Formats: sequence, C-alpha cells, structure tokens
Amino acid sequence: MSLYYDLHIHSCLSPCGDEDMTPNNIVNMSYLKGLDIIAVTDHNSAGNVRAVCDAAKGKVKVVPGVEVTTAEEVHTLCYFPSIEAAEDMSRLLKENMNGIKNNTDIFGRQLLMNSEDEIVGEEENLLVSAVNLDIYDVQRETELRGGLFVPAHIDRTSYSVTANLGFLPPDLKVDALEITEKGLEVYRVKYGEYAVLTSSDAHFLENISEKSACIDNAVKKNQKIYDFLCKF
Ligand SMILES: [Zn+2]
Ligand SMILES: [Zn+2]
Repeated sequence: MSLYYDLHIHSCLSPCGDEDMTPNNIVNMSYLKGLDIIAVTDHNSAGNVRAVCDAAKGKVKVVPGVEVTTAEEVHTLCYFPSIEAAEDMSRLLKENMNGIKNNTDIFGRQLLMNSEDEIVGEEENLLVSAVNLDIYDVQRETELRGGLFVPAHIDRTSYSVTANLGFLPPDLKVDALEITEKGLEVYRVKYGEYAVLTSSDAHFLENISEKSACIDNAVKKNQKIYDFLCKF
C-alpha cells in the first residue's frame, strides 16, 4: 500500500500557526491534495489532536503528534499510536513547561478548537519555548507511550539537532530523521543509514504538502514506520 503523507502540520494552537489552520481546514486541504495520512504536530501540545482526528473521519488518516522543543531547544517530532497517548505526553510536557506566558501581540493566539472549528479555549503558556526535558527524556517518554521519535528538520540552522548539538548523538534512539526538501540531497547522503521523512512543517494552509512524499520510500530503512502508520 502506498501512503502519501505530510507528517508535520501545525494547527492554530501553535503560536506561529495561522488562525485559518482549523481542524476542518487542515483536513479538507489535505483531502483535496490527495494525501492519505497526515499528522498534526503542534509545539509542545496535543491540544487540538482530538479535534483534528474527529474532523478527519472518512477523509484522511491522522497520526496524533507533538513537536517538542527539548531543553536543548531541539525540535523533535513525536508520533503516537493513539489520541490518549498523545494527550498523556501533552500533560507531561505541560508539567515541564518553564512558565513563560504567550504574548498574543507578538505570537498571536494559541487557539484550542473542537471538531466543528469552534474555539473552546486558549493556551496561556508560550508553547514554542523549551520544556524542562532533554532530548533523551523526550525520546524515552515517546517510546514508553509506543510512539515514534523523529528529530525535526535536521538540516535547518536553528532548532535542529545538528544546529544545536552540533551532531546527531550516535546513542540517541531515533526511528527516522526529518529532512526538508531543500536539504534532502546533501543530508540523505550524510545520514544514509537512517529512514528519512520529508514533510511540510506547514503553518499556513497553502503550505500543506502536495501528493509527493510517499511512505514506501521512507520504510526501506525502517519497516517499523510503515507498520506503525498502517495501523491508522
Ligand atoms: Zn520545528
Ligand atoms: Zn514545526
């Protein structure tokens, strides 16, 4: 089975996410583009995951996810087998936030929505700031919940494992690496032994991926990813 994916999409809960990134808009745009499976990965919270999953029924498969900013300010994608597992991780992240509040004038609102795109709340903590869990903690907590751990956009010069740590620690257990389309050529060679995912990191509707990245290519290096995604 070929699965076309975009496993890195931000909703209106992310401070940098456009307010048009509502559960139904994300789902309908992904459906129109012909994607089979998407993940909603807001910064440090799974607060809109349930709403997106509910809105997506019968249209597109949704992987519950979070993009965690580790204590080292490294962005890591954590994918979970269930909404409950993602929400459990989200609670852990909330307990480990550093108390910085969102300034809506600078970052915009962090909107919590239901599956009808109605606003049901606003997150007060600034979700993009680092949590008090290091990259090994985040990996372990993801694995404990049956999830996949994928360092995000490793070819970027900020908020990435290569930029912030200087290298990919060989003892860090990763299921795949996310490389942006721009970095694919160079980084795929450099990290040839790893499975690679390429997603949009969309914060605006128009940036959601076209039907191009297919999971078949990623699983050549790691069957676990395919098996995980096929369960949805
Ligand atoms: Zn990121
Ligand atoms: Zn992101």
